[in-house]
Amino acid sequence: MKNDTLTLDRRHIWHPFTQGQTAPDPVVMTRGQGAHLIAEDGSRYLDLISSWWVNIHGHARGEIATAISDQAHRLEQVAFAGFTHRPGVDLACRLAGLLPGDLDRVFFSDNGSTAVEIALKIAWQYWRNQGDARRCLFAAFGGGYHGDTLGAMSVGFSSGFYAPFADMVRETAFVPFADTWLGDNAIDDKEAATLSAVETLLSEKADHLVAVILEPLIQAAGGMRMGRPDFLRDIVARFQAAGVIVIFDEVMTGFGRTGALFACHKAKVIPDIVCVAKSLTAGFLPLAATVCREDIHQSFLSNSFDTAFAHGHSFTANPLGCAAALASLDLFEKEHCLEKIARIEQIHHQRLADLSACPTITHRRVMGSVAAFDLHGGDQGYGAEIGRRLSERMRKRGFILRPLGEVVYLMPPYCIDEHDLHSAYDGLAATVPTLLD
Ligand code: PMP
Repeated sequence: MKNDTLTLDRRHIWHPFTQGQTAPDPVVMTRGQGAHLIAEDGSRYLDLISSWWVNIHGHARGEIATAISDQAHRLEQVAFAGFTHRPGVDLACRLAGLLPGDLDRVFFSDNGSTAVEIALKIAWQYWRNQGDARRCLFAAFGGGYHGDTLGAMSVGFSSGFYAPFADMVRETAFVPFADTWLGDNAIDDKEAATLSAVETLLSEKADHLVAVILEPLIQAAGGMRMGRPDFLRDIVARFQAAGVIVIFDEVMTGFGRTGALFACHKAKVIPDIVCVAKSLTAGFLPLAATVCREDIHQSFLSNSFDTAFAHGHSFTANPLGCAAALASLDLFEKEHCLEKIARIEQIHHQRLADLSACPTITHRRVMGSVAAFDLHGGDQGYGAEIGRRLSERMRKRGFILRPLGEVVYLMPPYCIDEHDLHSAYDGLAATVPTLLD
């Protein structure tokens, strides 16, 4: 019986976000090097999606591997209730220092969904610890995605990924997300519609809202939909003025993606709770953090366990993850990543402008290291054939893309070589016009 990787994979693996019956065989990857992944058969692929948006410094970076190895030889894991450790404490201090205002209290977990789940639960219990049990409703933005656990599905329901689970989730109040693109002249109207929906929601239900959660500036999985920083600031101010807790899901936007270290910096706002994960460890290990305002944490302190936050995970603050995150933050500074991102953003703008003549490409948009456009003229929705076709053809040319249906995006690691990024755009220029043939 064959025991090569693919045969065993077909027999035993259940892949995420995959229709196992129709999906092509996965590519067996054996190595990573910089912005490239190298397959078993020796083919090299440029990772234009940063391996699901987690990789920022390139694959198999020695500095991070060494930090993890050093930590593994000292202390690999310890329960985080009743015990603490230096990498966890150092990382919490570092995050608190990097985030604005009094976002100083860090609760660790292990992925984006848990970071969101924790934020929702903290907000929920915050009100109950103060005797306010009226607040039972979360608000969120239409098309937002926050992860696949139950609470995250509730507030991300309108992203369209959860139809089989419709009866499992809680009711959420959704307001429209005002997204824009280059040359969009309807953005003022869209923002006015959002503002009016927010005002109506606050006038009718402010006292019943637990919190509002949103992906600041870029709704990622929902289609790389981009909003304007000034408008985000305005919206946040309205929720906060009405006493509603504002949760920023920076799981994708964190660590430079929008061109600032965090989207909250770019929008110049101080949310009440921030969720980070994905590139926190530069993609080396699963680790996440939910960071709250210190006064929210204070409301959990009393002489009774009843007001404590009874939530935890086996791997909360795993020391290896914390060591990886600290090494990644060091690299972020040492390698002047914000400058690299600004250069990537310039190339995105320049090359998307070149593509503007192609009628299949619409709604071009850029923010920081993220560029996106829609494919026009084919089918639409997450399973869109046109996006799958593009991904297969680009893969044959050595580029990894994973369109969200008809939405194509590029989100490379910051270490990407400029020449490689240009060649990816050359590949798109050659491939996109053939998609409808
Ligand atoms: N929030 C956002 C904004 C995300 O993009 C994602 C993942 N794509 C999540 C939460 C969930 O993160 P994870 O996949 O690590 O659970």
